[in-house]
Amino acid sequence: MTTHREPLDSVLDTVGRTPLVRVHAAPDEVPVYAKLESFNPGASVKDRIGKYMIEQMLERGELEPGGTVIEPTAGNTGIGFAVAAGQLDVNAVFVVPERFSKEKQQLMAALGAEVINTPTSDGMGGAIERAYQLAEETPNAVVPQQFGNPLNVEAHYETTGPELYEALDGNIGAVVAGCGTAGTLMGMAKYALDQNPDTYVAAVEPEGSLYSTTKGADVPEEEYKIEGIGTHDTSTNELFDPDLVDEVIQVPDKSAHDELKRLGREEGHLVGSSAGAASVAARQVAEKIRDGEIDAPADTVVTIFPDSSERYLSKGIYRSFTEWEG
Ligand code: PMP
Repeated sequence: MTTHREPLDSVLDTVGRTPLVRVHAAPDEVPVYAKLESFNPGASVKDRIGKYMIEQMLERGELEPGGTVIEPTAGNTGIGFAVAAGQLDVNAVFVVPERFSKEKQQLMAALGAEVINTPTSDGMGGAIERAYQLAEETPNAVVPQQFGNPLNVEAHYETTGPELYEALDGNIGAVVAGCGTAGTLMGMAKYALDQNPDTYVAAVEPEGSLYSTTKGADVPEEEYKIEGIGTHDTSTNELFDPDLVDEVIQVPDKSAHDELKRLGREEGHLVGSSAGAASVAARQVAEKIRDGEIDAPADTVVTIFPDSSERYLSKGIYRSFTEWEG
């Protein structure tokens, strides 16, 4: 945690309070700020829910010390849970669809967790099903279920949201974030709307994903390369509340890829593809506020850069668009 200068007792004390940095390729009149979540110890936004959810489940007696968390995860959540579980005397098992990055799976194992793969063709739905099966077979096991557990949203309501408002003295017109489980956006949005009910809220998804359908858009379902956000079945995204969202912005893989490369080259940010997508969308919202097309209570847009590109080097994230495996 860059904001702490005193010695800390545990790596868990370094979760959150990440830097908020201006994104320069945005209108001067409506600045965009991004929270750099790779500064967390597990190097992603998901450390926040790993710590918050395990601590809360232990406190509420839903999880016993020495018990096991079993979670279906695209990877970053596993790392976040594994960091926290290791320090809180909890075992961790993760069910990961094969297509997700090998770096993430290696890091979960390095933190002492067990990783189980499910076929890519079964999607996240297949991983969720397998996690529940395993939990039935394992004593003292809990599936935190980041896709349906309100603690996921609460973690961001309690940490990410207040951090943003503190950093910008409450001067926030729009919140923009990619949606995987939608925990990040929902927590930020709820906090933002409590501060000012007119705050503009935009969800970000890859082109081909179906969150847009919850707002009535007739969009085609397609495969996409952007990792960590999007959905092929909105019924699994129980936390996403379309009523809190003004707009779902679709970002094509190519735009997200161009932008993550630009962010590295021009602004010194080594970020993953979901950050590229968030940056494209946040800029669009800032331009619309500038042009009077969106009415926002302040001329500032905030977004989240969820993780680092280092996690995707083996998938050729910095190669050409066609060579990038996504
Ligand atoms: N980006 C990346 C790289 C992620 O791993 C995730 C989590 N799946 C997200 C964005 C989206 O976060 P959330 O699940 O809170 O919507």
